[in-house]
Amino acid sequence: MINIAVAAILSIALGITIVLTTFTMFYCQSAKKVHFILLSVPVFLFVLGYLLEVTATSDNGGFTATKVMYLGSAFISPVFLLFASDYCEVRLAKPVILVPLFLIPFLVVVLVWTTDYHSLIYTSYTFEMDAPIRHLNVETGKLYYVNHAYALLCMCFAGGIIFHRLLKWDKRYRFQLLLLLLGVITPVLANVLFVLKWNVYGINYTPVSLVVFNVLFYVNIMRYDLFDILPKATAMALNSIKEAFMLIDADMRFLSANPATYIVMPGLSKLRKGSDITGLDEWPPELSKLMDNRHEEIKFSIRTESERFYSASISAVFTRKKAVAGWIILIQDVTSPTLLLRKLEEAATKDGLTDVYNRRHFTELAQIELAKAHESAKSCYVIMFDIDHFKKINDTYGHPAGDAVLKTVAARVKSCVRPHDILGRYGGEEFIVILSDANEHTALALSESIRSNIEDQPVAYDNLSISVTASFGVAASYRETLEMIQKHADQALYHAKQGGRNRVVFYQQAVGS
Ligand code: GH3
Ligand code: MG
Ligand code: MG
Repeated sequence: MINIAVAAILSIALGITIVLTTFTMFYCQSAKKVHFILLSVPVFLFVLGYLLEVTATSDNGGFTATKVMYLGSAFISPVFLLFASDYCEVRLAKPVILVPLFLIPFLVVVLVWTTDYHSLIYTSYTFEMDAPIRHLNVETGKLYYVNHAYALLCMCFAGGIIFHRLLKWDKRYRFQLLLLLLGVITPVLANVLFVLKWNVYGINYTPVSLVVFNVLFYVNIMRYDLFDILPKATAMALNSIKEAFMLIDADMRFLSANPATYIVMPGLSKLRKGSDITGLDEWPPELSKLMDNRHEEIKFSIRTESERFYSASISAVFTRKKAVAGWIILIQDVTSPTLLLRKLEEAATKDGLTDVYNRRHFTELAQIELAKAHESAKSCYVIMFDIDHFKKINDTYGHPAGDAVLKTVAARVKSCVRPHDILGRYGGEEFIVILSDANEHTALALSESIRSNIEDQPVAYDNLSISVTASFGVAASYRETLEMIQKHADQALYHAKQGGRNRVVFYQQAVGS
């Protein structure tokens, strides 16, 4: 009666193992499912062997059942050790460890299956049909305990790793680690009870306890992804960050990207995993160049159609042999700081009213031009001009009208000078231009064209037509400092004012006069 009950329980356990393994194979997304399936196979063989034992009818039948049990039981401990060590991030899955790890169980199985020839594991066996639970009575051989000791060793090692992590790791992992630890302790205890023959009716508790733990692991892997917390948390973090994160392999094939990347590069949604990333329209060619040069990390800006600015940093992922395995690209939206910086730069260099360079920045640029001219033994020309009777314009039409005149005059001068000439607001209603690559004739002609431009077209403001003129002083540089040339131009300007305004005076002429 008890025998039938045990056989029924074992059959159910077998059924559960088959169903769970099949489900895991086809429906589970977890990276840890390989371990679960690997563990299920020896557990299945172990349970199957035990079922064959309790339903056997002869000595040979009983021993064949034992042979099948060994096919499973010998491998359970090393596979569990791999499972636990992988979870605990201890890398054991390398040939130098795997080969010896599975060699001993393999030899044990060979010895069990050939036991009739050497009696190293069992010296004799008889099958007990009449016991409450049918079982094989054995006389153990010299190497009988090798298998049990090895299994114990593997389980102790696995337990040690798990226990160490239990002490070191964050509380979040405690439940899974305790579950794994229980998965070590229970079958070990069951096995010890079996070996010491402290079991009721001679039942071997180990196969059933293993099925129970397989069910527990299954529920955790399938339902809660408990053994996958790290990759899941990493994926969640990447999905929620504002920065674009992209992974491509060493051959520039697209591997993965977080949602933020699709905002920066919308075309990515049409690109299939494994496609050449450089085929993407928005792919900045700078990135490919960086990879060619094997830079580990660099920052630069890319400009998309939507006028946004991005800064990208790129890091190579190396294999253990130091070859590039792929690239991680992080792209950050830097539009706001870039625009702010532009505004600050503009505010620092330009005059707010007239949008020409302010005096400080003009001086910086003029010094550079002058140094270049001195180096190449060429001369520079400085034009200073001042609006005539500007105080009167303010007094007559009001300060806003005066502002409008300043703006219009600056805009007209800008349209008169050549692209490489530098125009600045020197102060109040006084402007300055430095001309490189010019001679006396071009300097005077340009001054004259500005003067007539200002005079010829009155400034339109608020239904008013304001006539404006300006006086000009021009000076050339013959190795003098900028201050000196400006002083000369100012003196010429003074002479232009003295001479009746609305005119151009050249410094030499001024001195001569
Ligand atoms: P002159 O022909 O001798 O140069 O006479 P002026 O009236 O142009 O010269 P003055 O130096 O007496 O007056 C310059 C005036 O320009 C005084 C100042 O209030 C005015 N001014 C300076 N900066 C601005 C500005 O940004 N906007 C306006 N509307 N007026 C300004
Ligand atoms: Mg003036
Ligand atoms: Mg003035």
